[in-house]
Amino acid sequence: MKKLIADIHMHTLVSGHAYGTIREMAAAARAQGLQLIGISEHAPGIPGTVEPFYYLNLQVIPKCLYGTEILHGCEINVLNTGKLSLEQKYIDYLDYAIAGIHTQCYQDEGREKNTTNLIACIKHKKVFFVSHPDDDHTPLDYERLVQAAKQYHVALEVNNSSLVKKEQRPNCYHNYRTMLALCRQYQVPVIVSSDAHDPSWVGRFDLAYDLLEESGIEDALILNNSIEKLKQFMGIPAGSL
Ligand SMILES: [Zn+2]
Ligand SMILES: [Zn+2]
Repeated sequence: MKKLIADIHMHTLVSGHAYGTIREMAAAARAQGLQLIGISEHAPGIPGTVEPFYYLNLQVIPKCLYGTEILHGCEINVLNTGKLSLEQKYIDYLDYAIAGIHTQCYQDEGREKNTTNLIACIKHKKVFFVSHPDDDHTPLDYERLVQAAKQYHVALEVNNSSLVKKEQRPNCYHNYRTMLALCRQYQVPVIVSSDAHDPSWVGRFDLAYDLLEESGIEDALILNNSIEKLKQFMGIPAGSL
């Protein structure tokens, strides 16, 4: 498998339960040999996360720190209404959005309705990724999800932190195996993320890497082994720094 050189899902101090600054995350990324990172704070719905006003001023942050390119996203909650937990006027300031279910602000409604709610959110133009679709606390119909990801141009994440904390994510290995087999079948792209909440986790892909190797998924379907491929997927012009 080709080396992974970008990590688009991580959190800094402002997410309320993460412990690094943007600069510390960028320095860690550099040390790990990453060329690009995306900072993706939690949207409203997660206790202690930043006010959305934060996103209006992202432009003041250098686009490159310590030789690592910086993008700005947000991990936006899927709500039980099938809506995203961040208003459009803030989403407009992001390079990309990740949609994800978090039990802090979502109540399980069963496999079919959970899937329907998630699919409703990935129709949004700025959503290019689904975070950690792996946990039987909020089960998903992978056949429907993978087909919808294809239709709405969204990549499905293999989240290394979920694999590390697998006791807290029931059935996550099994669910990822199901998902990856379907991604191969339908040729749906995959993104591998650290979901780092501390600089020491940036670029940590070890367990996801093993799982992807086992799945036999082709490098062409993995977005973050090429900056050009990743940016093209998000509609960001190459060399846009
Ligand atoms: Zn998450
Ligand atoms: Zn996250």
